Amino acid sequence: MVEKIAVLGAGIMGAGIAQAAARGGYDVILRDLQMHLVKDGLNTIEKTLSKMVNRGTITEEDKVKTINNIRGTTDLSDLRDADLVIEAVVENMSVKKQIFAELDSLCGANTILATNTSSLSITEIAATTERTDKVLGMHFFNPVHLLKLVEIIKGLETSDDTVQKAMAFCNEIGKRSVLVQRESPGYIVNRILLPYINEAIFVYADNRAEKEAIDTAMKLGLGMDLGPLELADKMGLDNLYHTIIGFNDEFRDSKYRPHPLLATMIRGGHLGVNSGKGFYEYNCSPDEKHDE
Ligand code: NAD
Repeated sequence: MVEKIAVLGAGIMGAGIAQAAARGGYDVILRDLQMHLVKDGLNTIEKTLSKMVNRGTITEEDKVKTINNIRGTTDLSDLRDADLVIEAVVENMSVKKQIFAELDSLCGANTILATNTSSLSITEIAATTERTDKVLGMHFFNPVHLLKLVEIIKGLETSDDTVQKAMAFCNEIGKRSVLVQRESPGYIVNRILLPYINEAIFVYADNRAEKEAIDTAMKLGLGMDLGPLELADKMGLDNLYHTIIGFNDEFRDSKYRPHPLLATMIRGGHLGVNSGKGFYEYNCSPDEKHDE
């Protein structure tokens, strides 16, 4: 049974996942490399919970309980007793492999090791351990406190028991999980989303419609909250480009070819909301951009 949770990485996703697990009543250990990084993560959690209190989503008591369920550390050996470790460190295969090898020798034989990677191979990460059946992907969405979905991804040797336990945990913390039966780039959401956005860029770049017309069409015609070009700006055009190129490398299928306009925009520094310019222009402060 999963009782103690450890989260590795106190950045955007690690803080969000630690908060969600602690809100669900779990004891959580949050680990980053240096204490100031751990504190940044804890501060983010405190701020997010305070906003939720102000909006009436949770009570002050819920906030205090949640914070009290989280302990920050820089010491990897504090993760020794965890039943489930969720890794949310930088998206770098060699860093993740090293961490999983260390976790494998540190944690008990039954500990489940999950990665929140968006694009790296679960199977390759698992292969650094002696417990390939107990390694899986748990892909949370940003911002974690607002988005209910977790994609559960099986690597080549992930067991059904591991999947069931991870799904039960998601359920306990109020998330809805969906199973990806075998890892493949983009899992479900991004596999479908990226070609959709890329096609919108083709429609725009080939002068078939104005950008506002494309976004309005998809919002009013399909009830989407954001149009595809607005969403592209929000995701970051550089992220989008590299992810589509990654699909192209893996599937060798021309349907995953980014429109050349995307590369041109990136070269010109038009990266979307974060750079102030993408398909649209933005002049808000970085804080406002990320204020949920
Ligand atoms: P981030 O840069 O905000 O945070 C990463 C944190 O990991 C940093 O605080 C860093 O100091 C820490 N770190 C690095 N090496 C470490 C180690 N050995 N031990 C402990 N901590 C370490 O990154 P993020 O946006 O939170 O992304 C984390 C992971 O989640 C990545 O794999 C990313 O692909 C994935 N992801 C991100 C998003 C998103 O929207 N940001 C969404 C889904 C999944």
